[in-house]
Amino acid sequence: MIGAGAVGAGTAWHLARQGHNVTLIDPSLGAAIQRSNNLGQPLNGTTASLGVLMGNVFRRSSGRAWRLRQRSMELWPQWVEGLNHPDTPLQLDSPLIQMASSPAEQERMQSLANHRRELGLESFSAASTKSHHMFNPIPWPNPGHGGLRSQNDGRIDPLALQRALRRSLKAKKVDLLPARVTTLRRAQHGDADRWRLELDTGHNTHCDFVVICTALASALLLQPLGHELPMEAVLGQVLDLQVSAPAKAWDHWPAVLVCNGVNLIRHGSDRLWLGATLEPGKEPSAEKSSIMRRLDGLAPNWLQQAKVIDQWHGLRARPSGRPAPLLEVLEPGLILASGHYRNGVLLTPATADWVGQQIMTTTTIPDS
Ligand SMILES: Cc1cc2nc3c(=O)[nH]c(=O)nc-3n(C[C@H](O)[C@H](O)[C@H](O)COP(=O)(O)OP(=O)(O)OC[C@H]3O[C@@H](n4cnc5c(N)ncnc54)[C@H](O)[C@@H]3O)c2cc1C
Repeated sequence: MIGAGAVGAGTAWHLARQGHNVTLIDPSLGAAIQRSNNLGQPLNGTTASLGVLMGNVFRRSSGRAWRLRQRSMELWPQWVEGLNHPDTPLQLDSPLIQMASSPAEQERMQSLANHRRELGLESFSAASTKSHHMFNPIPWPNPGHGGLRSQNDGRIDPLALQRALRRSLKAKKVDLLPARVTTLRRAQHGDADRWRLELDTGHNTHCDFVVICTALASALLLQPLGHELPMEAVLGQVLDLQVSAPAKAWDHWPAVLVCNGVNLIRHGSDRLWLGATLEPGKEPSAEKSSIMRRLDGLAPNWLQQAKVIDQWHGLRARPSGRPAPLLEVLEPGLILASGHYRNGVLLTPATADWVGQQIMTTTTIPDS
């Protein structure tokens, strides 16, 4: 497995549970999992992410993207149960509330809720927004058109997830190699394994299956093998705000509030993460973060007056000219699970499940 973000580490854990002999390679495995200390550099996607799980409020009701989301939402509770441990606690936080930005959007939300009641969706009107205790006493951003409440969508803390995965990988005896793969080579005639990986430590390693989970870096590893799968970087900024509203007033804040496509996530008694921007390229723009902060003119006073305590940014890997994510068996033993763009955390269990199936169809696991 190359790459130990959510997708790579999660897939390594899944494969180890299936009985495979797994090695996970990533230079970041030599360091603690944290957001600080990146000296203005972009973080890897998983560490930068907010961990929002928007599976059930997805607009479409068919196709691969919908099936992957449904599979992930089905698997997440089992994953959390398997990964939660007193040393690395992990939980799913819910619900998720989306505020409608227009009457037309409220209508669309109502229709979605009517079709997905069994998935825990419920729409609410502007009138109930104003009177419901849930929305008082903090004025919510854009309550004017009602919205959609999704009981089973919400959030997982991406740092807690990575720590839990790392602990569980060690417990499953997965080999964790803190190194960068510089070159991937097809094995020569007579080699026992199909693939040879050259590392920046000067060492080589061999294996029968390579799973590439290196987000934006995937194209670089694949190009020399003749696989052209370009991806573009889409930067995301997150602000950590301190708000002056009294702690008690937050009692009814959901795990995630989505307003105009921006997530507002409460953490701690008076703190809120606001994110994330969608910016082409690799340099964060101050203008984009201040537009996000104003919620396009919908931010209530308390939000506009909040103090910025911290901020960070990371890069998403968006496949060029193809839908995200890229899940492909490129040649025997070479599997690509990358390019998850905006939903890599959400889609981690479904991705791991897919990789497990590809490997299972071509191998038998030896009895231990
Ligand atoms: C600001 C922001 C907010 C986001 N919010 C959400 C959200 O709320 N919900 C959600 O589902 N998604 C969210 N995303 C998207 C999500 O973060 C990504 O889709 C996901 O993290 C991708 O995971 P990954 O494991 O594929 O890649 P990454 O987490 O980027 O990990 C790739 C890893 O590969 C390693 N690597 C690279 N090259 C090599 C090499 N040659 N050898 C070895 N290792 C290598 C890197 O060191 C890195 O650790 C957000 C993204 C951003 C930037």
